[in-house]
Amino acid sequence: MRNRFYQVPHCTAFGTEKPWTQAAHRGVKAEGGWAAVCTEYAPFAPDTDEAPLVAARFWDEDDMRALRLMTDEVHRHGALAGLELHHAGNHAENNVTRYPTLAPSQTASDLHAHVVAKAMERSDIERVQRDWVEAAKRARDCGFDIVYAYGAHSYLLMQFLSPFYNGRTDGYGGSLANRARFWLETLEAGKRAIGDDCAIATRISVEGLGPSGIHVDEALEFVGLADPYVDLWDVNVGSISLWSHDSGSSRYFEEGYQLRWTGRVREATAKPIVGVGRLTNPDLMARIVRSGAWDLVGAARPSIADPFLPRKVAEGRTDEIRECTGSNVCIMKVDGFGHLGCLQNPTAGEEHRRGWHPERVEPAGDPSTPILVLGAGPAGLECAVTLGRRGFERVHLVEAERELGGKLRWVRRLPGLGDWGRVVDHRAVLLAKLPNVAVVTGKRLAAADVLDYGAAVVVLATGSHWSGDGLQAATHEPIDGADPALPHVLTPEQVAAEGRRPPGRRVAVYDAEGYVTGPGIAQLLAAEGFEVTLVTPLDLVSPLSDLTVEGPLLRRALHDAGVRMVRGVTITAVEAGRATGETEFEEPWALDIDGVVLVTQQVSNDGLYHELVADPAALAAAGIRRLVRIGDAVAPRMPSEAVFEGHRCGREIELPDPMAVRAYDRERWVPDVAPSMAR
Ligand code: ADP
Repeated sequence: MRNRFYQVPHCTAFGTEKPWTQAAHRGVKAEGGWAAVCTEYAPFAPDTDEAPLVAARFWDEDDMRALRLMTDEVHRHGALAGLELHHAGNHAENNVTRYPTLAPSQTASDLHAHVVAKAMERSDIERVQRDWVEAAKRARDCGFDIVYAYGAHSYLLMQFLSPFYNGRTDGYGGSLANRARFWLETLEAGKRAIGDDCAIATRISVEGLGPSGIHVDEALEFVGLADPYVDLWDVNVGSISLWSHDSGSSRYFEEGYQLRWTGRVREATAKPIVGVGRLTNPDLMARIVRSGAWDLVGAARPSIADPFLPRKVAEGRTDEIRECTGSNVCIMKVDGFGHLGCLQNPTAGEEHRRGWHPERVEPAGDPSTPILVLGAGPAGLECAVTLGRRGFERVHLVEAERELGGKLRWVRRLPGLGDWGRVVDHRAVLLAKLPNVAVVTGKRLAAADVLDYGAAVVVLATGSHWSGDGLQAATHEPIDGADPALPHVLTPEQVAAEGRRPPGRRVAVYDAEGYVTGPGIAQLLAAEGFEVTLVTPLDLVSPLSDLTVEGPLLRRALHDAGVRMVRGVTITAVEAGRATGETEFEEPWALDIDGVVLVTQQVSNDGLYHELVADPAALAAAGIRRLVRIGDAVAPRMPSEAVFEGHRCGREIELPDPMAVRAYDRERWVPDVAPSMAR
């Protein structure tokens, strides 16, 4: 390895399904200085299928062809390539491949209701180990330098080690030596097969933090036993059902939080150790390496947010690191929506299909074009930065408020969401280095001001606001009696940005959005001593937080803060002292309250846009050749989408219709000859 930066295996939803996307995404990290770059989990046998999640499936030569693109690309940029060979055991649903789930004992999966495994027979044990070894040989032939036996996240290897899954009474169950046997035999066989050519890595959770793993003292004993067969220890904490504690979000976990446990692995081995913990701070990384705790600084999320983090460190540009926000939007995108994306890095997942590079942009076609970007929320900030990087000489970013950030100005002040502010801070740092972008704050422009400004291109990134009248999905109507001018009706902005408070202690936060705003406002008010009831028409409080593996932690935090939670209720009317509505079972519902905060739906700030487009003659007379609208001003979405759209606008502003919907490159994975035809 050329340095100590290591991109640990992480999901992308590219796997072997999108081989070019996979190659481009990992290749950019190799180019950005990561010395080793790994795939996501790579099932080596058809009886470990976690569809609809997408894996780097590695069953045979056909899959090898797909991942060869990645190893070539990673090597071209001077990094090592790692393959995380994987068997999920008890956690494979096998819904697509239709084979029985395997586990050491006949246990029901603690991850998926309804999955009950077959207890592995001796022949299953031998076959799975044989499959792993054959896959390891193919991995070597495919150009991988590091080959994993993946035992973290309570997958099959850990299931043998953990008494929670392993109730066997034969030589593979009982004592630690017996429970370790399956893992040790697997490693030994792999070492014998490819040990001269590849590094054997094993990934282990050294503290399960719950029943479905093992505790750190026993883990260290295991590390001692397996050490002769292992070239690299990739260590973390938690399990697949407690993945929330491994891929810990910034709301609940500090940078480097895993060290408390993974910092102890050194006690049991002198081999290289790589650890993780959402590390973005080079000083902390250096401290960890100097302490001897780990040899390599591992990253998944920080490498998605900034593929060039290592190079920026090497070149002394640490202030330019695009720090991971820990929002876990990447997980939502991968597991929920089937394509990697990032709140901070709009190019993540777009390297192949849109040809976007995180650090390179096309030079401006006509640099002298004066451009006005209106609104410095995530969309406007990213757009202005991108235009500035492209070398447009006269870009003005104008913002009504005194502070940059749009909605993130106040969202970042909600409990636990401070690191989301990195979206704003990073762009503020870059803007300060771009003399060609003037930033004007505290200036709200009306249509006449825009026409007078002297810009040839105008980008409206004027954002959105929370509807004050309770407009909501359930009814597509406002709530009777809801008016934010009344003392007992409040919007999130009034509470979080303007400091308004309900007139009494009892307050309902009505959350029809199901993401961060409602729970954030509820926690904020509860911390100030209000008696808060979070009412939601949804089945669950903040279902989107489950896609960021924060749901249980969030609901726990609300519970601990004394917030009452009411689900399945649609509020249809509010008056002083009372909110009324209906339950999901069509029963009347009422709550006595002193005030209600309405987190029902956001509405675009599009008045200025419509005023301007309505008068093409005025635009022409003002010399405005192009007027475009981006971000929440078009449709209110998550901040990651506003950043994406700001970036897209910055890159494509010269196109005849820059924000038009256009197809991007798809991948069609067509085998040379369809097997059925070959027969
Ligand atoms: P997005 O997520 O699309 O970036 P935000 O709502 O977060 O949208 O941010 C929009 C920003 O635009 C806010 O900071 C708001 O103050 C600013 N803004 C809206 N209208 C104007 C205007 N007419 N003049 C200047 N700034 C404006």
